[in-house]
Amino acid sequence: MLKITIYNEGVHEKLDHRAGEIYPKGIHGQLKSALEDEFEIKVFTLETVEGITDEVLADTDVLLWWGHIRHAQVPDEVAARVRDAVHGGMGAIFLHSGHHSKPFKLLMGTSCNLTWREDGDYELVWNIKPGHPITRGIGRFIKLDHEETYGEPFAIPEPDELIFIGSYEGGEVFRAGCTYRRENGKIFYFQPGHETYPTFYNEDVIKVIKNAINWAYSPYREKIGCPNVKKPLEE
Ligand code: ZN
Repeated sequence: MLKITIYNEGVHEKLDHRAGEIYPKGIHGQLKSALEDEFEIKVFTLETVEGITDEVLADTDVLLWWGHIRHAQVPDEVAARVRDAVHGGMGAIFLHSGHHSKPFKLLMGTSCNLTWREDGDYELVWNIKPGHPITRGIGRFIKLDHEETYGEPFAIPEPDELIFIGSYEGGEVFRAGCTYRRENGKIFYFQPGHETYPTFYNEDVIKVIKNAINWAYSPYREKIGCPNVKKPLEE
């Protein structure tokens, strides 16, 4: 079984009754329930974020990250550890407002800003890479009755692959599923997952996350060093 570490800051579910009613055990609790039949799961929240040590990351095949209103309280050292672990081959999936998390911004090197609107729009998450491992079992689109509207421009580097495009009732479009490689690690950004909508109960959303875990996993875990190779190959 692949080893998955879930980080969810776990704050909205306590402060906002709408989020608390949908996710009584937190977004992390729902993700754990939805994934634990196929993966071995460890969970961290903002209260335990310091526990995401180098040892934990070395023992993690793929990390899932959901954060929003407390990004700033995640210690810089934790974000740097996540970046370094990805460089060394750990897979990472950033969900929804994880686009503004410290580790995602470190890995992207850009502001990751976007436009947004919380209006209860429906969203169509268009599958534009049928045949890709991340879209296995997904049809033309996933319909979400309500999602937070995210719109372009999205200040990310050009994705290696664009997997999904979200389109919304209000007319916006958004690059809703993007892959990157950073050194030896694979990264997937996936936009659905606002805390006041039951997105993480949607079977297709969970299927995409499971597919993305399997895609992001690499058995090769090695950091690229910077050795001074004094001896030339040929004398
Ligand atoms: Zn949101």
